Amino acid sequence: MSGVVRIAGQGLAGTLLAWALERAGREFEVYDPGHEASASRVGAGLVSPVTGERWAVAPGWAERAAGAKAFYREIEAAWGVALLTDLRVRRVWRDEAEGRLVRAKIGRGELAPWVTPAGLEADAAWIEGAWRVDLPALIAAGRARWRQTGFLREAALRPDAAEMEVGGAFGNRPVIWCTGAAETRVPGLRPVGGETLELAVGGAAGDLPPGVVRHDGVWVLPVGGGGAWAGASFIREESERLERREALRASVRRQLADCEWRERAVLGGWRMTTADRVPVSGWLAGQEGREGVLNGLGSKGTLWGPGLAEGWVSRIKRLAS
Ligand SMILES: Cc1cc2nc3c(=O)[nH]c(=O)nc-3n(C[C@H](O)[C@H](O)[C@H](O)COP(=O)(O)OP(=O)(O)OC[C@H]3O[C@@H](n4cnc5c(N)ncnc54)[C@H](O)[C@@H]3O)c2cc1C
Repeated sequence: MSGVVRIAGQGLAGTLLAWALERAGREFEVYDPGHEASASRVGAGLVSPVTGERWAVAPGWAERAAGAKAFYREIEAAWGVALLTDLRVRRVWRDEAEGRLVRAKIGRGELAPWVTPAGLEADAAWIEGAWRVDLPALIAAGRARWRQTGFLREAALRPDAAEMEVGGAFGNRPVIWCTGAAETRVPGLRPVGGETLELAVGGAAGDLPPGVVRHDGVWVLPVGGGGAWAGASFIREESERLERREALRASVRRQLADCEWRERAVLGGWRMTTADRVPVSGWLAGQEGREGVLNGLGSKGTLWGPGLAEGWVSRIKRLAS
């Protein structure tokens, strides 16, 4: 395989893959008509070492977190864009049973060094070591970069029938589908919806302290400039949407009771996930060197994406050698 790698989709997955290829000196073209329906336009990009209702160490954290952060730092330096913010999360438990679970885990040292006795409060615990990537800024900067260098095609990729034939042009110009919820290409991926409330926070009570996420199942994240995002991604059926949105608003009212705030917009998106929450990344069956997929990044796309993109570079180098 020697030709240009075509990347369909320039959300988080396609952007990281394109950068990994650029950095490795491989030729690529990235296709995306725009990001209207992209999850990466509304995703919070939070990466926390301790997640979920069971307060578990995030799957993949030990193997992936340091490398992923270094990858984003490298993009910041190479592209001249600010993407990363270090965060502390003040997570409130919903009831006494959850509080007992957390205290027990801390007592056994299971959440150290991220949650320790020093971070315990009456109704909450502090999670240290979290960080965030500004996903909208990442995809906008990638778009601007590859528009300038001529590697961006501002259209959907629609291979014609001849390409789809075995032995067709895919062999010289493989396609990696990074198309999120729009086109999944593999069985076993299902959509989970999420909404982000864009908030203006401030007034006499002052801004939210920077670098601190408030979390009670819904996260409230200061994004600077008197703004905050609040959200969660757990809509499985369209019919749940309005009820979930009201639950989001109720949580914001509770968590921002000490602030003046107002809602500016509701942003929505669908992220693809798999039953075991492990993303799908590899050549399609019987299509090695021709067609592959990077999808199903789920709620941990920011943590998993860089390693998976680097894995694609190795896969392509192996084929070329
Ligand atoms: C509300 C919400 C909150 C979230 N919070 C977090 C979080 O805190 N932390 C975290 O890690 N993750 C979070 N996520 C998940 C994260 O946003 C996703 O895992 C990630 O953005 C998925 O990226 P993607 O590139 O796979 O898909 P997308 O971002 O959806 O990108 C797919 C792209 O493909 C393009 N496309 C489709 N078809 C074609 C075609 N034929 N040709 C060319 N282009 C095409 C689309 O235009 C789109 O831009 C959240 C998601 C939501 C919805």
